[in-house]
Amino acid sequence: MENQKDLMDFTISEDERQVLDLAHEVCKNEVIPARAELDAKEEFPDKIFDKFKEAGLFGAMYDEAYGGLGLGGFLDTLLAEVVSEYCLGVYTAFFASKLGALPIEFGGTEEQKLKFLTPMASGDKIGAFGLTEADAGSDVPNLSTHAEKKGDRYILNGSKQWISNAGRADIYTIFAITDKSKGPRGISCFVLEKGMKGLSFGKLENKLGIRASSTRAIIMEDVEVPEENLVGLHPNHGFIHALKTLNASRPAVAGAAVGLATGAFKEAVKYTKDRVQFDKAIINFQAVQHMLSDMAVKIDAARLLAYRAARASSIGHADMAKYSAMAKYFASETAMQVATDALQLHGGYGYTKDYPIEKMFRDAKILSIYEGTSQIQKNEIATYIIKESSHY
Ligand SMILES: Cc1cc2nc3c(=O)[nH]c(=O)nc-3n(C[C@H](O)[C@H](O)[C@H](O)COP(=O)(O)OP(=O)(O)OC[C@H]3O[C@@H](n4cnc5c(N)ncnc54)[C@H](O)[C@@H]3O)c2cc1C
Repeated sequence: MENQKDLMDFTISEDERQVLDLAHEVCKNEVIPARAELDAKEEFPDKIFDKFKEAGLFGAMYDEAYGGLGLGGFLDTLLAEVVSEYCLGVYTAFFASKLGALPIEFGGTEEQKLKFLTPMASGDKIGAFGLTEADAGSDVPNLSTHAEKKGDRYILNGSKQWISNAGRADIYTIFAITDKSKGPRGISCFVLEKGMKGLSFGKLENKLGIRASSTRAIIMEDVEVPEENLVGLHPNHGFIHALKTLNASRPAVAGAAVGLATGAFKEAVKYTKDRVQFDKAIINFQAVQHMLSDMAVKIDAARLLAYRAARASSIGHADMAKYSAMAKYFASETAMQVATDALQLHGGYGYTKDYPIEKMFRDAKILSIYEGTSQIQKNEIATYIIKESSHY
């Protein structure tokens, strides 16, 4: 029971509250005025990143040892929720940097952490996480990128697909096979730095949504990576680092889904209070009220799952993979449903770029695809159902 109590403890400190209030303020001032143009031009949010940097928002997600605020992992999910209420594209670019940092946090040596996490915590350097490949999406271990040891270096060859921040990031955590005979246990994680010879990037993907985040392929042709950039200095531990990273980042994706849904919900409420048909504001029709009620309940349920997963992750709970999968699955499906209904309540106006709901609707779809599709989350949940059924 004690464990359950810890899991459901969502209280936050005064310092955490201040970070979240500041994030709301920066997003209201900087993200709202810029988001439509960033979306239209598919432009990376560099100017917004400068403001996030000034406000110390990058550092809010890192330990004090690396120049961060040391507030702990629960805050990441809350911060994801805040930023995504305003723009999921900006959230994706912002959190993809942290995603790139996580394998180093989980598996890196102290020296590697100091070297790579410190500039990421200050926002001076941006990160990216390179796991997915053309033939290794849901089937993560089916990687082709491989690393061969030559003296004190590894030579990397292969390519990564759909990598957020690729081309813009300075630091890349890249997963490659170091021992094919060992399957998933023969994968290692390397830190690559922009400018390394043989490292290049594909075209900017022309996406449906989250267009402020840049998505490209990463191409590696005989990239020489010094041995000291092998995460943890031990080969063949990369798959564990990848799993730990995804378990820790999925609560934040769930938080982001709650944030997007909250933004869409607020747009729907504002619009239905203003829009008059049949001589009354449409919010007075019970059918409209019921749609809004459904949205409110689903958002709150998703929020509770996201916070529980975030707490499980921050205290290293044994079932955190289950809680993360449940939260990511439910919250991302909820975000899509809420965005769809919120657009419906805008009628024809919602189908145009004159209202922010059109972009929120396009952005929402990615939540059930990246960091493991909804189907993959359900596979994970089912694994637990089968395991736990032995106690029934
Ligand atoms: C905009 C964007 C940004 C991304 N950013 C990153 C990033 O920064 N770093 C990174 O490494 N990756 C990133 N990804 C990759 C993303 O995580 C993958 O796209 C995702 O995991 C799905 O892989 P896939 O696209 O190959 O789809 P597939 O694996 O081919 O899946 C296709 C369909 O089949 C279903 N399916 C597959 N296997 C099963 C199964 N066993 N059971 C049931 N259904 C199944 C899937 O659910 C899906 O509906 C990004 C992707 C996008 C689109």
